[in-house]
Amino acid sequence: MDNSLIQLIYLLAASFFVLGIKGMTKPRTAIRGNQFAAVGMLIAVLVTLLDQKIVSYEFIILGIALGGLLGAILAIKVQMTAMPQMVALLNGFGGGASLGVAAAYYFETISGAGFAPGLEGSIIVVAIAATTIIGSVTLTGSVIAFGKLQEIISGNSIGLPGGKVINAVLVACALYALVSLINAPTQEMFFYAMIVLAAILGITLVLAIGGADMPVVIALLNSYSGIAAASTGFIMNNTMLIVAGSLVGASGLILTRIMCVAMNRSLINVLFGLMAEAGDSIDADEVYDGKVTSSSPDEVAMIIENARRVVIIPGFGLAMAQAQHAVRELADSMKKLGIEVEYAIHPVAGRMPGHMNVLLAEAEVPYEQMIEMDTINPTFEQTDVAIVIGANDVTNPMAREDKGCPIYGMPILNVDKSRTVVVIKRSLSAGFAGLPNPLFAQDNTLMLFGDGKKAVTDLTAALNEAA
Ligand code: NDP
Repeated sequence: MDNSLIQLIYLLAASFFVLGIKGMTKPRTAIRGNQFAAVGMLIAVLVTLLDQKIVSYEFIILGIALGGLLGAILAIKVQMTAMPQMVALLNGFGGGASLGVAAAYYFETISGAGFAPGLEGSIIVVAIAATTIIGSVTLTGSVIAFGKLQEIISGNSIGLPGGKVINAVLVACALYALVSLINAPTQEMFFYAMIVLAAILGITLVLAIGGADMPVVIALLNSYSGIAAASTGFIMNNTMLIVAGSLVGASGLILTRIMCVAMNRSLINVLFGLMAEAGDSIDADEVYDGKVTSSSPDEVAMIIENARRVVIIPGFGLAMAQAQHAVRELADSMKKLGIEVEYAIHPVAGRMPGHMNVLLAEAEVPYEQMIEMDTINPTFEQTDVAIVIGANDVTNPMAREDKGCPIYGMPILNVDKSRTVVVIKRSLSAGFAGLPNPLFAQDNTLMLFGDGKKAVTDLTAALNEAA
């Protein structure tokens, strides 16, 4: 195929990616955005494979069929609540694929004609070394992140004694191997050393991260997988991979920054694995003893009946209970009584960015009723009833007030400022960050204990009965 034609088609595919990312910035256009990106990817893959002619058609078809089948099975079977693990795994596959390409290219070159002399060869070796290190860190780091989110490994921080020193030594050794490989590209031991050192680094870095810090890590690993892909583009001299990888790398970094702000972590701390541990030292009994008021669906229904404005705050427990449809029915009943209903969306509510938007959209909650944290926060003082459903950390006032607490500084939904707060959850158990929540012990808070879906359904029934 003519090279200018290929570059033109790559440009078209890249435009689809950009349109895709633009679409994904808003819940309303996210599905279309995803479709744009998928079309872009299909164009890119087909054109590359047809152009390169290094793989036979049988392999292309087999690859597309196997990959497509695996992807479809995962997408259908994996529950919404398990999406973060799936994203972690996909990031790992991305890093692993880049590592595989770098390794194949490296061994093929050294066993064949060798690297070209001068700058051209050096650029390829640098790209191979960078891909190897980033790909390997991404692969093992993502597998550990998957294990933590899937609860195969403890979600708490598992720090080795002197962990930061070990990480610094690993980084130094990996960089030494990288420089050595650039100077002596045929010395395979440096290549193997980079793979092993980076793999260990991925494990130690992510193992040490615990508590509420995982979303930042997932976003960062996503960015790493993009950078590894872009670097692979330099190895293969493929513009499309450079563009697509850079887009993923850059958007992952932007997402990392958004998550850092939402979780109150600095990017430097994230990059060096300096993260706060979950706070299990704060005594829950001290926070709750004798101060918690439990309630019933009938009692809560009576309070709601007299409200003019109600805000629903969804959290991870709503996803666990699969209560999204029940919640929309509750909102419908409230609206029939002339009550204004809105949903307050915290950027890290749930277990992945956008988790709550996706869940509520599935239940056909209108997008204009899902209000972002910064917009809704000033309105809580004018809110008659705030109904918190399976949310915990994202409403914890300690983040605002308690300087010693691990989530101090994380922006929260100021639910506690509402006139009445109703919290629906099964017990006084902690959320992801492992902290007690003084909101549950406030004078204006009523606890409605129970599974999210059942409690909301009972509440709707009580409200409909009273109407
Ligand atoms: P939390 O994890 O703080 O709390 C969820 C609450 O849901 C629990 O306290 C639990 O209490 C309750 N719950 C669980 N199952 C049910 C059920 N069936 N019915 C009713 N309630 C239930 O959730 P938030 O959404 O408030 O906060 C998200 C946390 O997750 C943050 O710390 C965030 O940093 C972290 N995180 C976020 C990610 C993201 O990208 N969004 C990714 C990874 C982590 P009980 O057991 O008593 O019912």
